[in-house]
Amino acid sequence: MKPALFLDRDGTIIEDTGYVRRVDDVRLLPGVREALLELSKHYALVLVSNQSGVGRGMFGAAELDAVHARMTELLAPVAFGGVYYCLHAPSDDCACRKPRPGMLHAAAHDLGLDLSRSLMVGDKASDVAAGAAAGCRTALLGLSVDRDPQPRYVAPTWAELCSVLPK
Ligand SMILES: [Mg+2]
Ligand SMILES: [Zn+2]
Repeated sequence: MKPALFLDRDGTIIEDTGYVRRVDDVRLLPGVREALLELSKHYALVLVSNQSGVGRGMFGAAELDAVHARMTELLAPVAFGGVYYCLHAPSDDCACRKPRPGMLHAAAHDLGLDLSRSLMVGDKASDVAAGAAAGCRTALLGLSVDRDPQPRYVAPTWAELCSVLPK
């Protein structure tokens, strides 16, 4: 079984401008494409993203699809082995919204992933918590001061994170 690199979207792959819904707002973070190109040699890249803007009625599936298409266009030739979006609002109390590990478990089931050798990368404590709850190693990108639970790896940029992650 192969390991996954589970990836948050907003603030991890693209700039988090707050409920990103317009194609023109999709901007890759510095170094992410190069880092994922390298890491994709060692991991299956799996997107796991909370998009409660859909559940809250702020935007719809068409906007989500358009933003996703623009992101994948900018990332090419980097490609995801799996894509999981939680569209629920917090009040739905679903099993997939991070910090719960539902999307990671679904991916492990669908794609045959080894969770113990997988890594979850995100910019928030809820990402780290979801990874830890699924039995993955965890990494925090950026300077979030909320370190509960404590991530295994922390770096302010993708270039630095890529250099410390196990390959
Ligand atoms: Mg994020
Ligand atoms: Zn959900």
